[in-house]
Amino acid sequence: QPVVGVLALQGDVREHLIALAECDVVARPVRRPEELAEVDGLVLPGGESTTISRLLHTFELLEPLRARLADGLPAYGSCAGMILLADKVIDGRPDQHQLGGLDVVVRRNAFGRQVDSFEEDLDFQGVEDGPVHAVFIRAPWVESSGGGVDVLARVPESPTAGEAAGRIVAVRQGHVLATAFHPELTGDGRVHRLFVEIVRSAG
Ligand code: GLN
Repeated sequence: QPVVGVLALQGDVREHLIALAECDVVARPVRRPEELAEVDGLVLPGGESTTISRLLHTFELLEPLRARLADGLPAYGSCAGMILLADKVIDGRPDQHQLGGLDVVVRRNAFGRQVDSFEEDLDFQGVEDGPVHAVFIRAPWVESSGGGVDVLARVPESPTAGEAAGRIVAVRQGHVLATAFHPELTGDGRVHRLFVEIVRSAG
């Protein structure tokens, strides 16, 4: 069974561990470099990207994690995790560290104050059996993406979507998956299963 870690510095770690536990993998929290060295894939949870990035530095995980990502470690970032994986962030804090590796520009807190949090059904490429119910919480969106990045989901066009209509909210580049929303909060394991498939195919 592959070992899939959840970066456990801040954020909704427990929800990801529960979602992974249903996927036939060994799911473990990761807080130390020795724990990072043992995983076949890593989830970066939702939370607060600036805080997580500071803690990555404090826990001496920033450079080891950058190195493993550069070496092809499968990774899945949800929300704050997507921000951390992005090569570039708009509206990030000046002291925010990026892990990078995902060739996208993300806009932090993109949906604005009025629509801090919302839910939407999305068509998600690579996920079968109907739309994914997506929970967005002060979410980023992908402002632009490079040629090697597959767009997996967008906010649907609708009369109320406004500026959010058509925005990219799920992407994949090789072994790196990222969603602006939180599949760990809805009990729908399909996005986690997609990530576990990526981990297995990389192994
Ligand atoms: N707004 C948060 C950030 O900037 C992300 C929110 C989330 O992960 N739900 O990191």
